[in-house]
Amino acid sequence: MNTPIKGRCTLVGAGPGDPELLTLKAVKAIASATVLLVDDLVNDAVLEHASPKARIVHVGKRGGCKSTPQVFIDKLMISAVLEGEHVVRLKGGDPFIFGRGGEEVENLRQAGIDVDVVNGITSGQAALTGLGVSLTHRDHAQGVLFMTGHAQPGAQGPDWPSVAQVCHQQRITLLIYMGTSRSALIQAGLLQGLPAKTSVAVVQNASRHDQRYAVTTLDALHNTLHNEGIGSPCIIAVGDVLTVLCALKEKSSLPLRCAA
Ligand code: SAH
Repeated sequence: MNTPIKGRCTLVGAGPGDPELLTLKAVKAIASATVLLVDDLVNDAVLEHASPKARIVHVGKRGGCKSTPQVFIDKLMISAVLEGEHVVRLKGGDPFIFGRGGEEVENLRQAGIDVDVVNGITSGQAALTGLGVSLTHRDHAQGVLFMTGHAQPGAQGPDWPSVAQVCHQQRITLLIYMGTSRSALIQAGLLQGLPAKTSVAVVQNASRHDQRYAVTTLDALHNTLHNEGIGSPCIIAVGDVLTVLCALKEKSSLPLRCAA
């Protein structure tokens, strides 16, 4: 007979950065963890909820180090659970919006381990909320599309002209994660299906004290990122819901460009 597994694992969304955006469920899970495996984009302030006895392992790219290979993280999670630990895997934003939460759940289940998942506020959502812009303002949009700007190794990545056509025809707000390093390619692709003057916002470090953003138009996306020095972690938001912000920028002397 198999010995029952004593430990357990919870995947927890740490939200976009502001520690006050954690859910109560996330706080409870963090507090009850005996081992925490913490991703790169998680604000350390959320670790204040952890027990002083908990073992905290950073598995991100901080300090210029390479990120921990996914296989190693999976092994670490599984072995800690088998040793009877309550493992909390802390991920930036929501665990199931990019960030490999789905793969981790599959691997844990394959090892016979049950896993709970706690939602977090995804950075794309927080980015526009921070600007006071509704993703689905009914005068401008009837849906939202979450896309990655980063192709998987060996894969082609999104077909931006097709994405642009759908967004244009269906009035969809487009949120692009991990897009800054490919912004020239994304811009060129999107311009094949969306008007050049479509409104765009780029938001770095959404919800953090060092949040910065710029509003621009699609034909100036790449240059804006470059000129303003806005880089990762950044959300590129595209769509008519941003038009009011862009118009404000043109009219006013408000410090709209950078929130910091
Ligand atoms: N699971 C995360 C996304 C992980 S992918 C979530 O739901 O937010 C990593 C990408 O998320 C980054 O490259 C960036 O595009 C985006 N991101 C994460 N945190 C961010 C933040 N505070 N501000 C802007 N973008 C952020």
